[in-house]
Amino acid sequence: MSYDTNNIFAKILRHEIPNATVYEDDFVLAFKDINPKAKIHVLVIPKGSYVDLQDLIEHGTPAEIDGFFKGILATVSTLQLANGYRLVFNTGKDSGQEVPHLHAHILAGEKLCSHQL
Ligand code: 5GP
Repeated sequence: MSYDTNNIFAKILRHEIPNATVYEDDFVLAFKDINPKAKIHVLVIPKGSYVDLQDLIEHGTPAEIDGFFKGILATVSTLQLANGYRLVFNTGKDSGQEVPHLHAHILAGEKLCSHQL
């Protein structure tokens, strides 16, 4: 999958469409999913243009790679998820990945079932 600069998350990063931000730093933006699959459903995206994890690891700088994973944990910390959470990376067609910009789903806030991503 090649990077499409018109994907919805690229537009969010360019402030062309709004989002409900829960955490932001130099490397990531974390915002509420528009169609939540759990009581808490937040997406964490890198600010760089990467389709998926493999793209980030192969083409990202060490600072971007480090910053992405630390940004996920900083988001978890901001959300205060004392009872735990589920982290999901849909990748490619078989996973149902809809948006071709790397994103981690954080699901939490309730006892999660197997069908929640
Ligand atoms: P995927 O299926 O690619 O792993 O997940 C994409 C996620 O992005 C879905 O959970 C979907 O609800 C969410 N999403 C799609 N468009 C928007 C949008 O415009 N704003 C927000 N906040 N979330 C979106």
